[in-house]
Amino acid sequence: MAKLKYRNKLAEMPSYDVVERDWHIKVNANESGMNLPPLVEERVMSRLSRVAFNRYPNEDLEMLMEAIGRNFGLGVENVLIGNGSSEIIEKIFYCFGGRGRKIVFPQPSFSMYHIYAKAAEAEAVPVSLSEKDYSLDVKEFVNVVNDNKAALCVICNPNNPTGSFTSLEDIEYIASHTSCAFLVDEAYIEFNGQTAIGLMKKYPNMIIARTFSKAYGLAACRCGYMLAAAPLTDMIGKSMMPYHMNVLTLVTADTVFQMRDEFIPRIQMAIAERKRMEGQYGSLKGFKVFPSNTNFIFLKYDKAVALNEYLESRGIGIRSFGKAPLLENALRISMGNRDENDAVFKAVKAFVEEQN
Ligand SMILES: *Cc1c(COP(=O)(O)O)cnc(C)c1O
Repeated sequence: MAKLKYRNKLAEMPSYDVVERDWHIKVNANESGMNLPPLVEERVMSRLSRVAFNRYPNEDLEMLMEAIGRNFGLGVENVLIGNGSSEIIEKIFYCFGGRGRKIVFPQPSFSMYHIYAKAAEAEAVPVSLSEKDYSLDVKEFVNVVNDNKAALCVICNPNNPTGSFTSLEDIEYIASHTSCAFLVDEAYIEFNGQTAIGLMKKYPNMIIARTFSKAYGLAACRCGYMLAAAPLTDMIGKSMMPYHMNVLTLVTADTVFQMRDEFIPRIQMAIAERKRMEGQYGSLKGFKVFPSNTNFIFLKYDKAVALNEYLESRGIGIRSFGKAPLLENALRISMGNRDENDAVFKAVKAFVEEQN
């Protein structure tokens, strides 16, 4: 058979390496542990029952863009919506990528940044976070961006998977000392609250990416958005297909956005659970827990690999990182509901006690 002419380097493209199966307890993807609040679900179902399935999406996209823009004191021209913030981030990498282009981001951070850089045929230039507390040295970051004449720099704030936070001052330092596009991925911002959106007016190269998948528990729907100055949304919008958002997602996300106050108690609960579990895991022998600003906890433990296997064998899915740089023996555990968190901790504790 003739060899198929796949795109150059496609075979070497890494894939998103998450082991998925029918977990008994699933705390490996930072999802919300709960399905939609009943009131929201009811409204979603009622709107879905009136969808014109035969028509291409029309006013639903505009409506959601307007609602999101208005909430932040911005217009529709400042908003782009995507199939998850994944699509948004991938498009941003595409729009600033291409051969010879460099994209700078911290390491460790969201593993997909490497993959999107590769897909965009751009060169990824990672800047290592401090080994001690995973903080970002912004002076070094700025130097790397400028020395490489980067087309795009990215930070994830709070950072996945380390849970660490870059202050607004530090973000402003980056914005004011660079001249390239600057993406701040705020996938977990609802769990901390210091958004960089306020800096956008002063620094028109900034882009903020947000998602409905984490705090708003809508991972199944695939919906995220970006906020930026109109020239940026114009250019990045060119990379999107017509009708790329389906009406089912748009209607659901619009309802969730309108009713977002219904999610405040569960966001607060995730934060409270994170604090409680940080305390619990911190009390285990040999565990180093890093302060997190998200809906997950991040820790290091000498026997992390064996612990992960032990949990897997009991149907508990957490996230480990193999040999990824600066993530050896690191584990990330998403916050589920209280019972789930207790059950995971109980299993971890049993493992630790077996070691002595
Ligand atoms: C989960 C996550 C996203 C993307 O989520 P979507 O479901 O595609 O919206 C983006 N960035 C980070 C850092 C994430 O953890």
